Amino acid sequence: MADKPSSLRSRVIAAARDLAATGLSPQMSGNVSARHGDTILITPSGIPYTELSPDDISEIAMDGEVLAGPHAPSSEWQMHAAIYEAFPEAGGIVHAHSGFATVLAVMKREIPPFHYMVAVAGGRNIRVADYATFGTAELAQNAVAALQGRRASLLAHHGQIAFGPTVEAALHLAHEVETLATQYFHALQLGEPDLLSDEEMALNVEKFRTYGRRP
Ligand code: 13P
Ligand code: ZN
Repeated sequence: MADKPSSLRSRVIAAARDLAATGLSPQMSGNVSARHGDTILITPSGIPYTELSPDDISEIAMDGEVLAGPHAPSSEWQMHAAIYEAFPEAGGIVHAHSGFATVLAVMKREIPPFHYMVAVAGGRNIRVADYATFGTAELAQNAVAALQGRRASLLAHHGQIAFGPTVEAALHLAHEVETLATQYFHALQLGEPDLLSDEEMALNVEKFRTYGRRP
């Protein structure tokens, strides 16, 4: 059964507030959305997350037409819509300017298989999407390209984006990406870490398919 819009709106707000409360995305940066049937519920543009109530969340069609909400939808609505269109399994998306993910992103350094947890994003690495101006269709296409076979990527000179089956899963993954970026950044201070093999990472990706599920 599909979620009622009001409760899904509350879940989008809860994830957005987490971005602010945990410092995962500074000030008003970042945005959050959830797939709602054929439409998208997305945070409005440039409004502090602490001030959001469910009616403030924008509902948009995949082409950006605003169906509900008093504010302009997130400037990154095209990136969210492109991900929902490209990845049918995506139910929620979190975009953040988290600290260490952004440090790697400005250096255009992907996160390689330095730790088995990199596989949580779906593959052997977490790529960096090519730079394009924020809020453009070009950035949307670059993100989709970097996300092939993955659920998260860095965005050059910008931040990171993560999706999951739910908005909560997307938020969780965005935190994981930031943890990995922090660990990788610090490991680099001591030198270049050894990397896990493709075979080992394929095994880890496979293990994550069933990780945490009851037998
Ligand atoms: P919005 O406030 O329009 O969602 O923009 C924030 C952002 O991170 C743009 O990339
Ligand atoms: Zn951004």
